[in-house]
Amino acid sequence: MADLDWTRIAAALAPVDVIDDPVTIKKRSRDFFWYSPILNAQLRHSFGDLVVRPKTREELAHVLAVAHGAEVPIVLRGGGTGNYGQAVPLHGGLIVEMTGMNRILEIGEGFVRAEAGALMADINAALMAEGWEMAMFPSTQDIATIGGFVAGGSAGIGSIANGVLREKGNILQLKALSVEDTPVEHVFDAADALQIHHAWGLNGAITEVTLRTVPTRDWVGCMTGFESYRACYGAGYALAASEEIGRKLCCTVDARIVAYFPRLEGHVPKGANLLVALVPKEDMAAFNALMAAHGGEVHLAMDDARRTALKLPHVFEFAYNHTTLQVLKSDRSATYQQIAVPDPSDAERVAAMAAALGEDVWPHHEFARIEGRIVAFDLPIIWFRDEARLREIDATYEAGGFAVADAHTFFVEGGGVKNVDYRHLAWKKRLDPKGLLNPGKSKVWEDVRHLSPEEIEARSQKEPAE
Ligand SMILES: Cc1cc2nc3c(=O)[nH]c(=O)nc-3n(C[C@H](O)[C@H](O)[C@H](O)COP(=O)(O)OP(=O)(O)OC[C@H]3O[C@@H](n4cnc5c(N)ncnc54)[C@H](O)[C@@H]3O)c2cc1C
Repeated sequence: MADLDWTRIAAALAPVDVIDDPVTIKKRSRDFFWYSPILNAQLRHSFGDLVVRPKTREELAHVLAVAHGAEVPIVLRGGGTGNYGQAVPLHGGLIVEMTGMNRILEIGEGFVRAEAGALMADINAALMAEGWEMAMFPSTQDIATIGGFVAGGSAGIGSIANGVLREKGNILQLKALSVEDTPVEHVFDAADALQIHHAWGLNGAITEVTLRTVPTRDWVGCMTGFESYRACYGAGYALAASEEIGRKLCCTVDARIVAYFPRLEGHVPKGANLLVALVPKEDMAAFNALMAAHGGEVHLAMDDARRTALKLPHVFEFAYNHTTLQVLKSDRSATYQQIAVPDPSDAERVAAMAAALGEDVWPHHEFARIEGRIVAFDLPIIWFRDEARLREIDATYEAGGFAVADAHTFFVEGGGVKNVDYRHLAWKKRLDPKGLLNPGKSKVWEDVRHLSPEEIEARSQKEPAE
């Protein structure tokens, strides 16, 4: 990028807002990759050259056209809350911050349509005022965008009730601009949404997102303590599997991790393993009975008014990857991994795995639903020694039948999606023929970029994506 005339490019981008202040550019070049010491070493010196903030689809189209003409890399950025360096520019270039395109366009029966840069928390607030809420949202809803969620996320609060993002009916429509001299907007209806979902901004600039919504309920944020993690996990599974009790969050956190939650001091006893849940008010009696049956004691049960009075954050800020964040706030030598539990109903096997792993791995399980089936995944705290020990931990999980979705790689094909998604790359060829979008994040693009979209797509038949 060194020989490019960025002053000239900035002038060509006018009238779109451009930020060339080096401090801001450095900040906008980062996401939460630093959760991983491995990614931190690889990515912390990768920076973009200019930040640009379009406010409308027309401004975004202008930015993409200028980038195409100048042949500069483009990294789309929402809130920058991804964990794998998805939004880090590996080869410099333009960082396109989408948060200026933030209008909520339509709220209807069971759906919301919004510009890609709208914040999930703003969308949820607007929905709740009309009796709806997002079917699922990440625990980062205060800073994450709806475009970033469909391009980089996968599940969240709500997934125990409504499945994961990629499931039929959750993404209703996506619109994305191509990177050409005259960018064209393509519409991906529900059946085609997976062509672009979770492609990390490699194959089009998403302008507009339509997601499923569900009727909102009076949610109560609950924290239940258990003496043993084994009992806590068992109660978590029972809640996840309950047909009687509604819940949009169900997760279990080892007591050693809970010790890193200073905000909960005085609210939950020291040494408690915690089940963190969001349960509808009308199901609280059944919830209390279920917790008691498993030996748990409900220490906190807060509707929003009580939570505000207690000055506590939402309970989901102690769940999903916020759990890891709470630990990292006091000790940067922690990291994590993403583990699928083979049979979530088998608490004995989960306990046996914990015993096999040793003292440097502390469990934290999230329960969700995929195609109606309950699934559990572990986002354990791992006290990082070196990569060799991390890989030994991975191998222990794998040997016990627990699949590892590596959180320590910046390749789109490297984490949860282990197979290559050739549909994504075929659309990259169609929408980004020069390969300017988020270069370096696909292991395979350079091998297939000379092929036609149809030839690239044909490879999925030989090697289907997950
Ligand atoms: C504390 C913490 C908790 C988290 N909890 C969850 C969780 O519960 N569930 C979950 O799924 N994830 C979670 N994540 C990961 C992340 O927060 C979410 O995936 C979030 O939705 C990403 O949104 P964002 O706006 O921050 O996207 P960014 O990080 O800005 O971008 C993510 C990817 O999408 C691309 N992108 C952004 N906008 C566009 C666009 N308009 N068009 C095309 N590509 C685009 C970027 O290039 C990048 O590759 C968590 C992360 C942290 C740090």
